Amino acid sequence: MNDDAFLPVALRLDDAEILIVGGGGIAANKTRLVMSRGATILVIARALGPEMRRWHEEGRVRLAGESVSAALLDALLPRMRAVFAATDDESVNRLVADRARAHNVLVCAVDDPEPSSFITPAIIDRRPVQIAIMTGGAAPVLARRLRLQIESLLPEGLGRLARFMRGRRPWIRERLPEVTARRRAWEMFVDGPGAEAALAGQDDAAQAALERAVSGHSRAGEAWLVGAGPGDPDMLTLAALRLMQNCDSVLYDQLIPETILERVRRDAVRVFVGKQRSRHSLPQAEINAELIRRAQAGERVLRLKGGDPFIFGRGGEEMEALLAAGVRVRVIPGITAASGCGALAGIPLTHRDCAQICVFLTGHARADGSLVLDWPSLARRGQTLVIYMGLTPLAELCERLTEHGLPPDWPAAVIERGTRPDQRVHAGTLATLAALARERAVSSPALIIIGEVVRHRGAVG
Ligand code: SAH
Repeated sequence: MNDDAFLPVALRLDDAEILIVGGGGIAANKTRLVMSRGATILVIARALGPEMRRWHEEGRVRLAGESVSAALLDALLPRMRAVFAATDDESVNRLVADRARAHNVLVCAVDDPEPSSFITPAIIDRRPVQIAIMTGGAAPVLARRLRLQIESLLPEGLGRLARFMRGRRPWIRERLPEVTARRRAWEMFVDGPGAEAALAGQDDAAQAALERAVSGHSRAGEAWLVGAGPGDPDMLTLAALRLMQNCDSVLYDQLIPETILERVRRDAVRVFVGKQRSRHSLPQAEINAELIRRAQAGERVLRLKGGDPFIFGRGGEEMEALLAAGVRVRVIPGITAASGCGALAGIPLTHRDCAQICVFLTGHARADGSLVLDWPSLARRGQTLVIYMGLTPLAELCERLTEHGLPPDWPAAVIERGTRPDQRVHAGTLATLAALARERAVSSPALIIIGEVVRHRGAVG
């Protein structure tokens, strides 16, 4: 079964009839779940456990029959919104699932995702706020652990806050008819002291904060230069994540993997401005102009950059252009490739025994193909060289360093797609590294680390 195939959506139940097949503890759990959302419940069961019996006596569930048969199912299913097959007999559950699918009615066979067309997630209930956690049936225990962890982060009054906001929607719609302005006012409110007040049930204070947010809605646009780290979404900063959730548009390039883009607010406009060596899809001046245009139109535009925006990322140029155009700019640092790749490859960048200096340099050649670098100062012992964009000129780099005095057996490594699931580390020496990279068809993005620290490489996991 494909456990990636489930899409979490929310089922409306206050106008629905639900069929529960089974009368034991598991059936009772499912019954409780749907009953609390207002569904009308019909049960087929040979015997009812204590809870089910009580609900039956109270008239909260009705009994439709004792034994499961295709005929009974075919009679009932057409008017059901969904059915739970919750007996302890797998063949009965499968029969129910089979008939339900034939009638195109949603079915959940408990503990058996295979024949199910829906499954129930672990739920954090702060109604009207609900959080569903699911693993597609792959690991329900993991989902329950996650629920515990998330539960502990959420304020008790979350439902109260949501109800306060629901109650103010007509009021705010009247004052701010335009949807973007309204969303911003809400964001300002949610991020500010008003939300705290509403959580605590102090509606007057919350209302005052909301009025302030509404009057400040004409806030100008801004540009955020945000470092997204080396590729692993776990290496995003909390600030990056927050701004990713609040932006109106995002400009990104090929260093940003989809797993990170997925964390950007879903209705933000995505603009790909990727640059690849020799294939410039959008020149820097146009990127700058696009950032300025969007910010001046009132957007909060996010420039999401691989690693750190101020390390070989042209973030400096973008900042200068934006400031010159009078746009407010925020810069959020990111984990640069050197730190990310070093850590995940187990290569320290400095080491008391052998590297007191660590130099970051770019191997990006000039237009005429030449590498203009201060070779004598680079070819020194006691320091680590970290080379960004150094894959293409790797052979020349290694040769020049040897010419200027480093020994041919000086340690050197290439880290390919560092921190990503398919990261590869290739360790060699100045004499062997270029051939090794060619042999193993190393591709971009790749970072070169040269120095004795490579010998200290640890088997980290
Ligand atoms: N601002 C970025 C660097 C941009 S320059 C930062 O701070 O990391 C692009 C170069 O960074 C690539 O050519 C490569 O050398 C390096 N790089 C970025 N991400 C990388 C990764 N995940 N693995 C290896 N190298 C990476």
